[in-house]
Amino acid sequence: MNAPIGRCRICGKERKLSFEHVPPKSAFNCDPILKIKLEELLRTQFGKIGKDEKKDGFGVYTLCEKCNNNTGSWYGSHYVKFVKQAMEVLDNTKGKIQWGQRIPASFRFKPLPVFKQIITMFFSLNDPGFRDRHDYLVKFVLARNKRGLPDNIRLFASYTVGPLYRLSGEQGCIIYDTRKRCFSIQSELCYPPFGFLLKTDGSIPDPEYPMFEITRFADYDYNIELSDILRLPVYPVYTPYAGDFSSWEELQKRAFRNLFSYPATFC
Ligand SMILES: [Zn+2]
Repeated sequence: MNAPIGRCRICGKERKLSFEHVPPKSAFNCDPILKIKLEELLRTQFGKIGKDEKKDGFGVYTLCEKCNNNTGSWYGSHYVKFVKQAMEVLDNTKGKIQWGQRIPASFRFKPLPVFKQIITMFFSLNDPGFRDRHDYLVKFVLARNKRGLPDNIRLFASYTVGPLYRLSGEQGCIIYDTRKRCFSIQSELCYPPFGFLLKTDGSIPDPEYPMFEITRFADYDYNIELSDILRLPVYPVYTPYAGDFSSWEELQKRAFRNLFSYPATFC
């Protein structure tokens, strides 16, 4: 395919766009996947889902060559090392993990480049409006050594084990809990071994699905390497809705309740 011309999702300039894997190919994004848009899934709920198969992982044309090369060379390899450690943590559990269980694990990593690679991926998931709304993040990612974040930007992590992968651009959502109803703005990337939820209004994830906050990674100098214990919870992904980590049992219960909540429409 010829490289398309379009607005780079980071610098915003109209340029020839280059292809990049999201997440990076060597971060376990090389196996065939079936890409399904949310509206496709809803429209064809009882029929066939249209096939858009990617043979060697998920990727997109969203960044110009300069932004792609700079972010790739500054942050990419640090992120891959981080992901490989996380995959080892999950492998070592040998599948003996429960929904929402926190797995304390020791990581050795450079927090700032890891954080900036995650933010770079969020630029690729979103339309160019995301970079227009978040000028600080543009400067943050394009300046290798820049650190620190405004209060509205918070990043949360979990382990995710599929079976679905989920990538969502910035969207509003309403979170109900027992005390109050909260509006929240978020973007999400769930691609094993990690799930990342980026909050851009300073809010926190749904209390039903607590995650591990990694916003502080943005405060370190570029060359600082940490040995740290991270306590991420692990969740499966069964629904297409950002931030929803309902268990299979919970979904079955909900389906059963809904069956008796509405007048019968079968004929
Ligand atoms: Zn660019």
